[in-house]
Amino acid sequence: MSRVYNFSAGPAVLPEEVLKTAADEMLDYKGSGMSVMEMSHRGKVYDALIKEAEQDLRELVGIPDDYAVLFLQGGASTQFAMVPMNLMKNGKAAYIITGQWAKKAWQEGKKYGDAVAVASSADRTFAYIPDCSDLDIPEDADYVYICENNTIYGTVYHELPNTKGHLLVSDMSSCFLSRPIDVTKYGLIFAGAQKNVGPAGVTIVIIRKDLIRDDLPESVPTMLKYKTHADAGSMYNTPPCYNIYMCGLVFKWLKKNGGLEAMEKKNQAKAAKFYAYLDSSKMFKGTVDAKDRSLMNAPFVTGNAELDAEFVKKAEAAGLVSLKGHRTVGGMRASIYNAMPEEGVDALIEFMKKFEEEHGA
Ligand SMILES: *Cc1c(COP(=O)(O)O)cnc(C)c1O
Repeated sequence: MSRVYNFSAGPAVLPEEVLKTAADEMLDYKGSGMSVMEMSHRGKVYDALIKEAEQDLRELVGIPDDYAVLFLQGGASTQFAMVPMNLMKNGKAAYIITGQWAKKAWQEGKKYGDAVAVASSADRTFAYIPDCSDLDIPEDADYVYICENNTIYGTVYHELPNTKGHLLVSDMSSCFLSRPIDVTKYGLIFAGAQKNVGPAGVTIVIIRKDLIRDDLPESVPTMLKYKTHADAGSMYNTPPCYNIYMCGLVFKWLKKNGGLEAMEKKNQAKAAKFYAYLDSSKMFKGTVDAKDRSLMNAPFVTGNAELDAEFVKKAEAAGLVSLKGHRTVGGMRASIYNAMPEEGVDALIEFMKKFEEEHGA
């Protein structure tokens, strides 16, 4: 068996220890004589499993009791519709456009009401986070929407926007559990699991309970109401059972490794190392403003598309895989999520140095 260093933006690397536990428990989960994949979600064993996963997540993040935790399906993209369907009371919301995911959410929001773009960094291909200290937010906006870590462009909010008393809704898909979260600053947080948490197929939603409405229009599909899932403990219908199990193992791994503070330190150390090298390199350049750099996704380019392609190919052959950048940015992108060990970042830097030398930079 040989494992590569996997820099994929998502689905992405998972902790090896977690994968081994899942392998050990594959045929016989805790004496049940079956895999988690095979058991009824209504049975005792699974009931204990999902409750424990939620409890571990609550402890890990420090989620207050007045927030519900939901394990949903449909990916983060389904939240682009669920958020406006469930949270627009006045039919108005403010969106901050910092990349493709925020833009998609904004466009979806427009189907359900007046989704107003109050700030954008589209003018420079989303290479920065706009100043959000004094935005022109409509008084009657039901929420302010952000994409907290921009997976494609490699930027993150190091400071949250001033929402001027409005609810904050955050797409944390690519930074969830990478650093501590003050949940009380948000009305709703959601994250597709496949970036930094677990396998694709489960989306975690943390929603303040008073925002869960039972007065939605008849036309809102049952499956798209937060209330449906909150009332049923995420078991209204068959949940993504195995994916929740995998996320649960990751929560335990995080708890065992010092929780989110420790994870943030590790992530900062990894990113600092990588960006320090990038800034010293003659060949490779970062693509976003240094002050807004993501700790999770680091795009970079040589400025020469052929050289970029050669780099990606040779890196792959050396066991450093999925470094090709998003098609809209080009170049390379190294996603260095929680589960990427520091040795993986070291190996990438060494490889980049060698590549530079070989090309006489
Ligand atoms: C990947 C991603 C999405 C889309 O997730 P799906 O689960 O594929 O719908 C949305 N937002 C962000 C920030 C992402 O990184």
